[in-house]
Amino acid sequence: MALLPILTVPHPALRQRARRVKQIDHSINMLLDNMVETMRNAHGIGLAANQVGSFWRVITIEIPPPEDNEDADAILYRLVNPSIVKRSGNREVEEGCLSIPGYRGFIERSLRVTVKAMTPDSKEIRIKADELLAQALEHEIDHLNGILYTDHLASHEKLEKIEPADPQSTTS
Ligand SMILES: [Zn+2]
Repeated sequence: MALLPILTVPHPALRQRARRVKQIDHSINMLLDNMVETMRNAHGIGLAANQVGSFWRVITIEIPPPEDNEDADAILYRLVNPSIVKRSGNREVEEGCLSIPGYRGFIERSLRVTVKAMTPDSKEIRIKADELLAQALEHEIDHLNGILYTDHLASHEKLEKIEPADPQSTTS
């Protein structure tokens, strides 16, 4: 596995719409493995392929265990061609992005989402998500469509500079 450089704004790859994967081959699995390692190294909870300069529709997400249950394991998702098939409700969340270091913002996200995707072994799955997983899925699938969380800011006042970059904040 290898660490990949994470692109930051205004890199044009972050504004490109990623392409559907037609066949999940060795190179896609290698990309997913490298993205997991890169995401963990950056203390992110999610990463989209555009952020590491690839144009395929693949994302990785790792949700940490709840703070009140240290024995629980983090849950890792490696998803190919993910798409949101249903969303409901909305709430204001705090969000950051590895491609926009040093900032966080307050935006509206859905309460619940249902996502359809392929696993690395080519099985189709559906994920019903709420809380942090729903937020991360929306954030990463936005990336695949060239959308950044700052596009959802209601006003400029909703964006805050954090100095120094706080590793505890939600970054993906
Ligand atoms: Zn991001």
